[in-house]
Amino acid sequence: MKKVTVPFFISHQGCPHTCVFCDQRTISGSTGELPSTHDLLSKVDSWRRTAGERPLEVAFFGGTFTALPVAVQDKLLQPLQRLLASGEIRSIRISTRSDCIDDTTVTRLAGQGVTVIELGVQSMDDGVLERSGRGHTAADSQAAIRCIRKGGLTVGAQLMPGLPGDTSAKSLHSLQRVIAAGAGFVRIYPVVVLRGTELARRFQAGEFSPLSLDEGVQLCKVLLHESIKAAIPVIRIGLQADDGLNADTVLAGCRHPALGQLVRSELYFDLLCKLVLELPDGQTFSIRCHPSRVSDVAGPGRTSLARVGGGCCPPELFLNRP
Ligand code: SF4
Repeated sequence: MKKVTVPFFISHQGCPHTCVFCDQRTISGSTGELPSTHDLLSKVDSWRRTAGERPLEVAFFGGTFTALPVAVQDKLLQPLQRLLASGEIRSIRISTRSDCIDDTTVTRLAGQGVTVIELGVQSMDDGVLERSGRGHTAADSQAAIRCIRKGGLTVGAQLMPGLPGDTSAKSLHSLQRVIAAGAGFVRIYPVVVLRGTELARRFQAGEFSPLSLDEGVQLCKVLLHESIKAAIPVIRIGLQADDGLNADTVLAGCRHPALGQLVRSELYFDLLCKLVLELPDGQTFSIRCHPSRVSDVAGPGRTSLARVGGGCCPPELFLNRP
């Protein structure tokens, strides 16, 4: 049964850095205030009532959870212990940086019910990390992933293609390295230039060009394909539609409210083309896919079918729902 995630955004809390692209308060729409015990319990209670039988997971997103003072981390986790013991929540997930995790921390968190740690890896290229003001290295991320795995927890890697100095080859290599290190899932967020950030200043000064939407889709398609081949889930592509991003906050970059669908559609389009090219001229055929994938296969506005049909196969091409 699919779990329900109860999100708490602790934007920038604990973070000792200012990455060139970061404006956590904008992308989470959060003030960054830490939730009180009352906030935690009442939100979980209200989500539990709508979740039905589905298990609940509490997630602390944004910020750098493990860079908070241990007493503060305990204050956030302690009220959840009773809910874990009673089964009212199933698990806890936190996010942090690659240089803010070690064996002792993983052991402590595991003992408090944390089962998943998401790492802001962004890139596994030291030049890209340096130019992006990340303040840690690729080796830090590799060690962090291994440390979390060793502690028996699931580790997710957040990657950000299109940072300063990045290339398609470096992005692909970054993905391959986090998978090789043991990441259990990835999130892919192509760079978006937010107003007020150092990246915005560089963009306006002509010192940085983000990926366009089309470039981002094509690159993410390659990354998604690589993840599928490695059987590593990509749980998110692009920032959420409700992440507080709009014309007032976004200056430039690869941004679309349904970026993940665009990427998946492009991947299926490539597959359709490959299949069609293997058919004899004039051959008609139907395509079967899982109902949840029909819109991805057909493309936005069924454009993938039109593109394939108009180029190299008969217009009778249609989708059959199984
Ligand atoms: S480590 Fe995370 S929260 Fe801190 S500045 Fe960078 S992106 Fe923002």
